[in-house]
Amino acid sequence: MRDNTYKGSCLCGGVQFQVTGFSPKAAHCHCTMCRKFHGAAFGTLVPVTGLAWLLGTDQLKEYVAHNETTRTFCGHCGSSLGFRVKGEPLERIEIAISTFDDAIPVVIDAQIYTDYKANWCQLQPQLPRFPEGR
Ligand SMILES: [Zn+2]
Ligand SMILES: [Zn+2]
Repeated sequence: MRDNTYKGSCLCGGVQFQVTGFSPKAAHCHCTMCRKFHGAAFGTLVPVTGLAWLLGTDQLKEYVAHNETTRTFCGHCGSSLGFRVKGEPLERIEIAISTFDDAIPVVIDAQIYTDYKANWCQLQPQLPRFPEGR
């Protein structure tokens, strides 16, 4: 049986990719860096397997933060695409979950770094919360 593939892309469509699998669980991260990078109440990133870039690797830009984590984004439209810790190659990127165009078999099961959440952001009562990482 063939593995499923799940496609994703940035806002302008210049960057396209597919994966064959996911970590089945992911967390909403309220840390300041995720909030800034995603321009959103929180960032949600998921580790993937079988990542293949289909289009636009030449458009990928990277920002290395002071703690040497690397954030990857589309240099044309600015879409936030992914995150990796220091020293990890591009293949080990965690993908920003909202860039997937296909429905994906991932369950959000936690809220992390909630000590850093925006004051206007309501946490989801049904999900466990972790003041720092889990
Ligand atoms: Zn783009
Ligand atoms: Zn974060």
